[in-house]
Amino acid sequence: MNRPKEESSRMQKIVSLCKRRGFLFQSSEIYGGLNGFWDYGPLGVELKRNVKDVWWRDMVQGHNDLDVLEGAPGAYEMTGLDCTIIMHPQVWKCSGHYDMFHDHMVDCRETNKRYRYDQVSGRWLECKGERIFVSTNAEAEEQEAETQRKAMKFFKIRNKDLDKLHWDGGFVCLTSIDNFERVLGPDAKKLDTLTQPREFNLMFKTFVGALSGEEGTAFLRPETAQGIFVNFKNVVDSTRVKIPFGIAQVGKSFRNEITPRNFTFRSREFEQMEIEFFCNPDASHKWYQYWRDRRMQWYVDLGLDGERLQLREHHTEELSHYSTGTADIEYAFPFLNEGEYGELEGIAHRGDFDLRSHMEGKLDPNTDPLELQLGEDGKPVWKGSGRDLQYRDEVTNKKFTPHVIEPSAGADRATLAFLCEAFTEDEAPDENGKMQTRIVMKFHPRIAPIKAAVFPLVKKDGMPEIAKKIYLELKQHMPVFYDEKGAVGRRYRRQDEVGTPYCITVDGQSLEDGTVTIRDRDTLDQWRVKVEDCAADIMRRIN
Ligand code: ATP
Repeated sequence: MNRPKEESSRMQKIVSLCKRRGFLFQSSEIYGGLNGFWDYGPLGVELKRNVKDVWWRDMVQGHNDLDVLEGAPGAYEMTGLDCTIIMHPQVWKCSGHYDMFHDHMVDCRETNKRYRYDQVSGRWLECKGERIFVSTNAEAEEQEAETQRKAMKFFKIRNKDLDKLHWDGGFVCLTSIDNFERVLGPDAKKLDTLTQPREFNLMFKTFVGALSGEEGTAFLRPETAQGIFVNFKNVVDSTRVKIPFGIAQVGKSFRNEITPRNFTFRSREFEQMEIEFFCNPDASHKWYQYWRDRRMQWYVDLGLDGERLQLREHHTEELSHYSTGTADIEYAFPFLNEGEYGELEGIAHRGDFDLRSHMEGKLDPNTDPLELQLGEDGKPVWKGSGRDLQYRDEVTNKKFTPHVIEPSAGADRATLAFLCEAFTEDEAPDENGKMQTRIVMKFHPRIAPIKAAVFPLVKKDGMPEIAKKIYLELKQHMPVFYDEKGAVGRRYRRQDEVGTPYCITVDGQSLEDGTVTIRDRDTLDQWRVKVEDCAADIMRRIN
C-alpha cells in the first residue's frame, strides 16, 4: 500500500518547519551532513529535554511509592542510574549483543553499496521479452517513480513508450525473492549484482587506551538497559529499595544502522529512556500488564491520542519462551505507508534472562528451561561475572532471581511523534479580521519548548516596561519569549508556529486598569488578568 499524497506533503512541511524554526538540523551540515546523525536546534533541544524531563518526573521523581496506583498489583519504588556509554566488553558478550545483535545486509558487487536486506523492495516487470525484478532502497513515497526511472534506463525506453513496461503486481520485499539472478540492484546498471544476505553486527566498535587489537576493543552501548542489570546489586546494597522496584536510565545509545532513514526515526546515535522493573516471578505477568498500560497512557496524556497511536501485543509465537508478553507502542508516522506503524516503545517481559546471563554466562535463548550456551569444548561460550545477583526476600528469607519487565522507549522517536502530531494547519483571522491559513504546533503545554510569549502592543507609552516585568518574572519559572517587533498578528503567528501555548499582550487598557490579555494558542480565546496575577495564571495552565 502506498502513502497518501497529503501525508507526504505533511511530512515535507514538518521537515521544513523543523529546519526553518530550529528544531532539527542535519549533523555537520556544512560538510554535507553525516547520514543517520541529527542535531537538535534551539527549540528542538527544549522540546526533547521536556520529553525526557517529563518522563523522568512521571516515572521516577514524582512517582507515588506509598499508594497502589490504578492497575498496579501493589505499591512499588522507582530509582535512577546514569551509567557509562562504554562498558566492559564482557557485558555485551553475556547479553547476547556480541553474537546476536545484527541485521542482514546485501552488498552490490557493481557499485560496492550496502543495503539492509529487509529494506530493499521492488516489483516485477516484463519488457521486450524479458522479466526482471527492479529493486529500490528509496523511501516509500519515492519507490514508484524510482523503479520506473530505473526500468526506463535499463530497457532504454522513452516517456512516450511507457506502455511497453508491463509491471506485474505491487511492491514486495527483497526477502521474498529466492534467486537474485533476475534482480536489478537499487543502484546497479546490470542484473545479478547483489550478494546473498549476510549478518552485520550493529554495535559501533572503538578502542580503549593505547591498545588497538582485540585486547583494547570496546563497544558503544546499543542500549542503556545493560548498565542497569550490571548495577542491580549495587543499587540493592546501597539503597533500601525492596522488590518490586524499578531502575530508570536516560541516555545515548548507538547502533550502526545499515540504512538510517525517515528523519530521526532510525538514527545511528539516539537517546533511550529505559526502565528495568524487578519483581517476584509469581507476580511478573501482572506487572507486565500494568507497565504496558501505564506506558501507553503516558503518550495519550501528552496528546498522542487518536487513530495514529496503537498498542500492539506480540503473538505468542513471536515471544521467547521465557517471556509471557511483549507489546509495542506504535505511531502512524506520516512518512510510513498507509496502515503501517513505527515503534515508539517496546514493553517486554524478560523473565530472569538478563540477571542470570550476567551471573552464569551467555544463556541460549532457545533452551527451555534456559541453559548456558556451550561451545564445542563443552565450556560456556561467554563466561558471566560469577557474582550473586539474586535477591533475598526479608520476610520469607527466600532467595530468588527477580523477573524483569522492561519498558524501553526512544526519546528521539517520541519527540518526532510529538512533532508530527502537533503539526496542524487551520484558519485564524489576521490583524484585519481576514481568515488566513496558519501553521500551529499544538504541543501539550508540558512539552512545548516555549511556554509563553510576552508582547507590548506598541513600543511606547510604558507598555514595554510592563511587558518586560512580566517576562522577567515568568523567566524564573519557565522558558518565555519577549517580542516587541512588528504587527502583533505576525508575532502571534510566529509563536503559533513553534507551539507556544499562551501569548500575553500589554495594551492601552493595561495602562488604565493594570490588566493584560492572555491568548490561547488552540482556541484563540482571549481573557484579561491583572498584571500581578499573570504569572500564576500561566503556571497553573501549563502544569
Ligand atoms: P526497530 O525494530 O525499529 O529497529 P528495536 O525493536 O530494535 O527498534 P529496541 O531495541 O526495542 O528497538 O529499542 C527500544 C527503543 O529505542 C525503540 O522503541 C525506539 O524508540 C528506540 N530506538 C531503537 N533503535 C533506534 C534508532 N536507530 N533510532 C532512534 N531510536 C531508536
